[in-house]
Amino acid sequence: MKKIPLWGKIIIGMVLGVILGILGVQLGFSGFVTDWVKPWGTIFIRLLKLLAVPLVFVSLVKGVASLSDTSKLSRMGIKTLGVYILTTMAAVTVGLLVVNIIAPGDTFPESRRAELMQKYTENLKVNQEQAAAQQELGPMQYVVDIVPDNIISASSDNTKMLQIIFFALLFGVAMVTLKSPVTHVVEQFFDGLNDIILKIVEIVMKIAPLGVFALLSGLVVDFSGDIKLFSALGLYVVTVIVGLVFIIIINYGSIVLFFTKMPLKRYYKGIMPIQLVAFSTSSSAATLPVTKEECEKSLGLSPEVTSFVLPVGVTINMDGTACYQGVAAVFIAQVFGLDLTFTQQVTIVLTATLASIGTPGIPGAAIVMLIMVLTSVGIPVEGLALILGIDRPLDMLRTVVNVSGDCAVATLVNHGEVVRNAKMQTE
Ligand code: ASP
Repeated sequence: MKKIPLWGKIIIGMVLGVILGILGVQLGFSGFVTDWVKPWGTIFIRLLKLLAVPLVFVSLVKGVASLSDTSKLSRMGIKTLGVYILTTMAAVTVGLLVVNIIAPGDTFPESRRAELMQKYTENLKVNQEQAAAQQELGPMQYVVDIVPDNIISASSDNTKMLQIIFFALLFGVAMVTLKSPVTHVVEQFFDGLNDIILKIVEIVMKIAPLGVFALLSGLVVDFSGDIKLFSALGLYVVTVIVGLVFIIIINYGSIVLFFTKMPLKRYYKGIMPIQLVAFSTSSSAATLPVTKEECEKSLGLSPEVTSFVLPVGVTINMDGTACYQGVAAVFIAQVFGLDLTFTQQVTIVLTATLASIGTPGIPGAAIVMLIMVLTSVGIPVEGLALILGIDRPLDMLRTVVNVSGDCAVATLVNHGEVVRNAKMQTE
């Protein structure tokens, strides 16, 4: 067992989980899976979430404290944000191209439309209310929300990661500016704390194969009733998958190939465990501890870069989500027989980019934000009922792309820093 790499163990866990789930449904012991196996998956997700906030806070404070100059932070910050926005816009564009070429909505059977809409209209109402609440908040709310008014309540919710980042940066900058013997003690304290948290991440990762085993068996049992949906929505599912695979291979492949010195094989192999955990948990925020650990260990990125680029990415960089939102919007328009103009498609690129930035890294979040994309171009929001039932498997897939994008951008920023450091040394 010791010789099998982590990703190998996780895959074994996933396969066994799916098998157990299928057996549970077929042989009638799905109650056992739900009551006795699935909770272990929940425990695994809880452990990951538990680590996310302390990990981001401590490693960011430590990261800022170790920066010799704060200009490095602003340089890295501007670059990170710029690249994140570009990759997201590219992702929506890929989604739009694929959905326009395959046109899954044009062949969608009329008879299934009414049936699906009826089945999911109740869920739709809840989502609509959530989206309306979001929209009422005004254009500046996103910026206002970055500043926490209470650090304890900010830490109580993984969707408030930007607030933690904000406080950590403030704390770190104040600590380096003071540089007194007393603050030096605090710096050492953070060093120790960082080591301890990393050790806990290592321990949690040991049980990752078991965690994904439990999660997948539970998911198979929960969604076994919806298998029939796949046939009606088959082409839509294929379209989303084509878009997502394209992004992972072409978009990220080109970033790594042309803008970093990392061999492609190393990148793809290194991010595999991260992708598997993202797939099983459907949450890029919960995957963060794994993302950070594997980026440093397998891709060799410096903690200084990962501490900043990854938490920010988890919160604002959602390429899979953005691509998905583009595909879903056009699919619904096609089903309703609406022809979208070029301007409307450009509007989708912009709104899906913004919506994905605002999407928290938690399961199913994209659906709520999708409502904004739909309303921006006048696509009937009711159409969402068509795709609600099939959202979870697609959520798992888009989360894989979300985390892969964070890793690609972190690799790029890391490369920039390495080149810069080497240049400074020779000067
Ligand atoms: N589940 C996704 C994530 O955590 C967000 C979404 O697309 O719903 O990255």
